[in-house]
Amino acid sequence: MAIVRPKEAYHERTSTEMNRHLRTPEWNVRQKIALSCRMLADEEHESGLAGQITARAEKPGTYWMLSFGLGFDEAQASNIVLCDDDLNLLEGDGMVNPANRFHLWIYRHRPHVNSIIHTHPPYCSALSLTGEPLIAAHMDTSMFYDDCAHLPHWPGPPIGDEEGEIIHNALGNKRSILLAHHGQLCACSTVEEAAVLSIFIERTARMQLLARAVGPIKQLEPALAKEAHDYRLKPKALGATFHYFARRVLRKGADVLE
Ligand SMILES: [Zn+2]
Repeated sequence: MAIVRPKEAYHERTSTEMNRHLRTPEWNVRQKIALSCRMLADEEHESGLAGQITARAEKPGTYWMLSFGLGFDEAQASNIVLCDDDLNLLEGDGMVNPANRFHLWIYRHRPHVNSIIHTHPPYCSALSLTGEPLIAAHMDTSMFYDDCAHLPHWPGPPIGDEEGEIIHNALGNKRSILLAHHGQLCACSTVEEAAVLSIFIERTARMQLLARAVGPIKQLEPALAKEAHDYRLKPKALGATFHYFARRVLRKGADVLE
């Protein structure tokens, strides 16, 4: 006779087994930022020196970021610098990235956001030219279901306070946003979440553009999409996915952690 159990029983069993088997190393925040930079470089998120990864530091009003002038593929824990909430350098040998001013605006207004990643990867950038919002219609991209905002116009390069306010208002309470004529941004509770979402928002845009070349996209059934969204965003699942991408980086060398 077939065994039929409620889905919750399997969720619980999977969580218990993941807690036992999928332990992730205790990297510090600078190492996590450096690993995220490298994994995004591997995923073709680089666009010259455009794009940034930031994270809140322990002391309120202070933030970690990659020293300006370095590409994502050059990131190491030792070139992640600390700044205050007016972008003055507090610690580290390097230059604070002036493009990060709009991150500060989001941090000020979203107390649960601890890490922000903004990049101009090719498929998000291409989709951002069409005026269409991001469509999460695949199981693997369900973390963006009803969780990706859209800024449908371009306010210019985000270097001032006004752009911070515009992007923050468009983002609302969502984790991610597609920025017209620009790229993507993920504002998350952890570096791991921001990195994994940034990788998958680009894959979502790629899937959308591939599918649209064939015909209209069929949406997911809302209740199932919401269930998949919550499942994909469980911290343990995100941690395991981050660790997978980190291992790919570390196979090329461990200097990223130094
Ligand atoms: Zn940008």
